Amino acid sequence: MGCIEHKSQPAETDASDEHTFNSKVEMQPRAPEVPSKEFKNGKPVKVNDITPKGLYRPNYNVLTPNMRSPEYVQMSTAAAITLGVTNGKMYRCECTRCLNLLLTYPEGCRANCAYCGLARHREAERDYADRNFIRVDWPSVPTDKVIDIVAKDGDKTPFHRMCISMITHPRSDADSITVLKMWTDKIAPEVVPVSILSNPTTMTRGDVQQMRDLGADIFTVALDAATPELFDRTRGKGVQSPHTWKKYWEILRDAQDIYGKNKFGAHIIVGMGETEFEVLNLVQQLVDMGGHSHMFCFFPEKGSLMDHLPATPKSQWRRVQLARYLIDYCDVRVEHMKFDSEGRVAEYGMAASELSNIIDDGTAFRTSGCPGKVRDDISACDRPYGDSPPSDISSFPFELKKKDIKKARKQLNIPVIQHY
Ligand code: SF4
Repeated sequence: MGCIEHKSQPAETDASDEHTFNSKVEMQPRAPEVPSKEFKNGKPVKVNDITPKGLYRPNYNVLTPNMRSPEYVQMSTAAAITLGVTNGKMYRCECTRCLNLLLTYPEGCRANCAYCGLARHREAERDYADRNFIRVDWPSVPTDKVIDIVAKDGDKTPFHRMCISMITHPRSDADSITVLKMWTDKIAPEVVPVSILSNPTTMTRGDVQQMRDLGADIFTVALDAATPELFDRTRGKGVQSPHTWKKYWEILRDAQDIYGKNKFGAHIIVGMGETEFEVLNLVQQLVDMGGHSHMFCFFPEKGSLMDHLPATPKSQWRRVQLARYLIDYCDVRVEHMKFDSEGRVAEYGMAASELSNIIDDGTAFRTSGCPGKVRDDISACDRPYGDSPPSDISSFPFELKKKDIKKARKQLNIPVIQHY
């Protein structure tokens, strides 16, 4: 299966915005409601106990079947289309290179992260397998069926990487290990390498090591928030969620020791109230440790505790995307950059002509994540439209065209140079 670009496009929105960054003061999540007892821990799904029959597409008009990992996993709509288990079309791209397998249980994720569509506070509103996550639906599929399809495709698989996405659940560590074993029993790591998107809260160093021993290639920690204070506000005590910055860093340092250079990383969401200086300092810290940062542009996920807040202004996002790329791949250091009094990038620490070439290459504006089979700086995990609508793309899931680069330049407020 190949990636084919569609010719048609939705109307594009105006890139200019007065609001040039999301401040800490405005990015305050609402307080979570506590669901009544009858909805807690996936009770409706467990009481009805409907037997699943193969693929389940999120559907609020039917009773959700009782599905649980390791027998079942969820995957993004893009992955389900690419795998061929569901139909659909994506704007300007027809496949994703990353097969993200999300663990699933009727009880769902037991954490309450403020920006996340899977969070626990939604129990009364929507069964877990029906919840939107990074802007899309996540169909559920029997794990052995997924593995059989990829194994059968062999070298012709469209996937450059598989990623086991853990959630906060008492079974998550053991079931991730089972899914990993099921996968590596049938699919060689050279054909489709495996990444782990971990849930540090329930993990030990032994789990991190065991996953490496079983063939995991890259281990990532979703810090998501760029500072300890924002972490606590959006993922910890601030929203009655169990995560702590300290535990996340403990597991991140274990991953650094066990997986080594370029084989570990951290997810960071940009625009939750941190300054550009703070997030880029974190990017530098990760590079100095030997790892990478995988970035997401904050988008107000429907149903989340931050769905009333503004998406990250494109100017802020483009500045951070570009600066992060320079730190991760071009040997620029955060100390070479200059920041204004609000912590915004004012200079990128690179000669204008060189910077211009990097902007024109466009890779800096593509989705960042674990690499695929093309180049180290091109992510397999392209997450089509996971952090923006297709009408105003934040992370490009495909190679940028001239018109995309022109728009990115405008959003960066760097003059358009017509030398192509
Ligand atoms: S732990 Fe992950 S899946 Fe669970 S609520 Fe937080 S971000 Fe969402």
